[in-house]
Amino acid sequence: MAHDFLDFDAPDETEIRREKEKAKALRKTRWWQQKTGPGICYYCRKKVLYRQITMDHLVPLARGGRSTKDNLVPCCKTCNNLKKSMMPLEWEEYMEKMKK
Ligand SMILES: [Zn+2]
Repeated sequence: MAHDFLDFDAPDETEIRREKEKAKALRKTRWWQQKTGPGICYYCRKKVLYRQITMDHLVPLARGGRSTKDNLVPCCKTCNNLKKSMMPLEWEEYMEKMKK
């Protein structure tokens, strides 16, 4: 996978808004209920209170990710904020460390 920031077609705002709406709709589905049922953060594997679970795009919308079921994961606020504050490459390195 390429790590170059400019290596993808940046989606326009309309597209991002549409994907956000899709994610919102998916949040109300049974599928999401089941996904968040165990209350485990996808990234740090810690137990998260239901109301603190956030929906995260594995590949961020800004990087061309879509609101599809395989691109959406439940995660805690800490991980979500951390991910937002990091560069994609930094985040990947962080994830590698977590796995060990
Ligand atoms: Zn987490």
